[in-house]
Amino acid sequence: MSKYKKGLYITSGSEIAIIGGGPSGSLFAKFACEYASRKGIDVNVTIYNNRQFSEAGPKGCKGCVGVINERLSKKLKQNGIMLPEELTMQTIDSYCFVAKGGDLHVKKKTRLDNIVTMFRGNGPYCSPLDGGFDGFLLDQAIKSGARLVQESVREVIFPKDREDKITIGYGQGFHNVDLLVGAFGVRNPIMKKFMEVGYLPPETTKACLIEIDCGEQHIEKFIQNTIYIYSFGLPGIDYGIMIPKKRFLTIGMVGNDVKPENLRDFLSGPLIAKMLPENPKICCRCCTQIPVTNAKNPFADRILIIGDAGYSRYYKNGLESAFNSVQIAVKSVFDHGISKESFKKYYYPLCKKMFITENLYGRMLFRLNNIISSHEVLSMAHMDIARKDERRGHRHLDEIQWNMFTGHESYENIFWNFFEPRLQMELVIETIKEFLERLSKKCRLT
Ligand SMILES: Cc1cc2nc3c(=O)[nH]c(=O)nc-3n(C[C@H](O)[C@H](O)[C@H](O)COP(=O)(O)OP(=O)(O)OC[C@H]3O[C@@H](n4cnc5c(N)ncnc54)[C@H](O)[C@@H]3O)c2cc1C
Repeated sequence: MSKYKKGLYITSGSEIAIIGGGPSGSLFAKFACEYASRKGIDVNVTIYNNRQFSEAGPKGCKGCVGVINERLSKKLKQNGIMLPEELTMQTIDSYCFVAKGGDLHVKKKTRLDNIVTMFRGNGPYCSPLDGGFDGFLLDQAIKSGARLVQESVREVIFPKDREDKITIGYGQGFHNVDLLVGAFGVRNPIMKKFMEVGYLPPETTKACLIEIDCGEQHIEKFIQNTIYIYSFGLPGIDYGIMIPKKRFLTIGMVGNDVKPENLRDFLSGPLIAKMLPENPKICCRCCTQIPVTNAKNPFADRILIIGDAGYSRYYKNGLESAFNSVQIAVKSVFDHGISKESFKKYYYPLCKKMFITENLYGRMLFRLNNIISSHEVLSMAHMDIARKDERRGHRHLDEIQWNMFTGHESYENIFWNFFEPRLQMELVIETIKEFLERLSKKCRLT
């Protein structure tokens, strides 16, 4: 192998550094160590992470509602990652969709695996737990052979010649690396460094969250194992969410114009107030960012950017996206090398199929959901049909709703299922009926 070629492959003694020890960084480190060992390559994998997951409250937590979907639950097990029982806060058995047209309660029909809720960090301020999901994954990476440096990476020096290594600066030290993996999430100062090599980070939208301590009895009585999704049909607010976690409730709102005040109004409004204890004890609050587009050029010679910072699924299952993109990334790195051309040939096309095309459909579906939710008549017609489907045991509109908000199916499949002619015909008839009913009521009143 020529010197030029050798420089762009991972070989024994290669140094791999990962910026970020969130799910994508930890999973990349774990799978890279295991893949290298299967190939008989002795590599050094170092994770740089600047968050202490053992801290309670926002300091130790990424700011996430913490739902692990069925597919991810299964994939983790298949890869030998057994989530300890104490991490599971609740096992979810139904979703309730609330819109202007009423409520739709959909029971879990799929049996792939459990849907569970967790805390990403060490739980809310008022009641620290003993470790969360991110800390657990980081431990798994260390057990597989990765080294952890609990420091912020503040500097990246890209070489002029692609045969030379990249240098990163952290704390008081420097590290020369063959491959630099960016798993730093979104809205992060280190992103600017990568823009020097053509990287454009994903666009983001806002999310505000709070944790309320309701007590286990209250959750059992009023919420049970149900996740609530609220479609408001309001401009700038895409949806609200309420998630049970043992004695806690995580409540959040997502959308471009979401502010803490919206969340406060939502809590005191009739939809939520009836489900909370009399004097709800708010334990934790944060506002954070969620990616809504994919990054541009998340790779270059010796550089690969993964997880939220690279490609992820629109609005759903960011943790599963991290898992999937990591698997594609590790295979591409070890089987095909670390040059820009090889990432373009072996990493990008799979990600394009999995995230870029898929997200076009996702965006259309969420826009459609917003339009339907903002019109009372449309929303009622929609809900009526879905309720009928659920009662009759049919799997159609209720299933579409389920798949969209649990992320169980691909957005492309959900989109085409929604536009099935029989369903569209039913929707038109139901909407006309609803409209005529309202008109006749109005005529009787006047
Ligand atoms: C409100 C909200 C709710 C969500 N709910 C869900 C859900 O229910 N289910 C789901 O599957 N997904 C959910 N997601 C998405 C999920 O949180 C992300 O997809 C996931 O966290 C992506 O993981 P990551 O490792 O790429 O990034 P992150 O989790 O953001 O991790 C990045 C890590 O890098 C570290 N870091 C950053 N810069 C540096 C630096 N310079 N030096 C060292 N370390 C650094 C950070 O401290 C952090 O630990 C939600 C997201 C939001 C915002």
